[in-house]
Amino acid sequence: MKTAATNAANERSPVKRLEFHMSYVCNQDCVFCSESVRMRQYQKRPLSYKEMVETITRKRREGCEHITFVGGEPTVHPDFLKLLAASKKLGYATLLITNGAKLSEPRFAAESLPLLDEIVLSVHGSNSKVHDDLAQSPGSFEKLWKALGLIEKAKKRPFVLTNTVVTQKNINDLVKTINVLAEHPVVRHCLVSNLAPDGDALLHYDEQVVRISELGRLAPQLVEIARSRGKIIRFFGMPLCSLGEAWEASNDLYWDSRTNVERATSHGQVTLEDTWNYTPKRMRFFPDLCAPCPAREKKCWGVFRIYHKHFGESELMTFETLGSQESPPCPSR
Ligand code: SF4
Repeated sequence: MKTAATNAANERSPVKRLEFHMSYVCNQDCVFCSESVRMRQYQKRPLSYKEMVETITRKRREGCEHITFVGGEPTVHPDFLKLLAASKKLGYATLLITNGAKLSEPRFAAESLPLLDEIVLSVHGSNSKVHDDLAQSPGSFEKLWKALGLIEKAKKRPFVLTNTVVTQKNINDLVKTINVLAEHPVVRHCLVSNLAPDGDALLHYDEQVVRISELGRLAPQLVEIARSRGKIIRFFGMPLCSLGEAWEASNDLYWDSRTNVERATSHGQVTLEDTWNYTPKRMRFFPDLCAPCPAREKKCWGVFRIYHKHFGESELMTFETLGSQESPPCPSR
């Protein structure tokens, strides 16, 4: 397992992960979709198969060993299966981020699962009422569960992670959601995500965002639920201090450098652009209060700037000590 120290070293090591934004359409319509603006901008400029294969071949030559298929919804791209096969042929380890709807189709699952090493399924709630409401897609929870059933029966099971974006509409169902997921034999790792202030989430930020202190209060209970079933749990987009005694479950501590390839517009031309991320600091910053905090050196990446603009820093607290996995740090106030 990686530690904060190994992660610090990763900032300078070669980038081996490719995040390939290959689809700008989706078969669902999640209310908090962080990609909605880019999707509206580029949905009429789908990537061709030639463009995609050239990209993954070039990035493989550059040293990438792991590819994440990102959307929109990658599985609705008509050439997804072909691209997946090409990725495997090039020697990539493969990860699909998906809402699971296509994987509920037996034929699609049979063709894709043998080629997938990891899958991240978006799960918004413990039941269809909560999940379908947030996905704005009736029947989506049923499809998700059907996909999990097909994965369970598959000869070669990929490593399955789930991602639950927390909003005001599912926070009261979060404990139940993690319970249900941790119980499932296929699910190995649960990610709980603070709302990223981007896309549609930003348009309705006040109606959707959950206070980090509220989510942080639930974190130790969620960690216990996952651990008691032998599952991993991590928290995305949360300042380390907001997780309290559950700080070691911060996803900031386990983050890998990556290169993104996605649609962009340059001098009026729609193109594909490479960018590199060496830290998970996107849209986050350190308010003045963080200056003396040792966590800042050791891998906290601060708070979302927009969250801070709305709510200030009264929920943050500096750590007196950080670094020993044996003795968790104590908040100084
Ligand atoms: S005080 Fe700042 S640097 Fe320290 S843990 Fe909290 S957000 Fe991170």
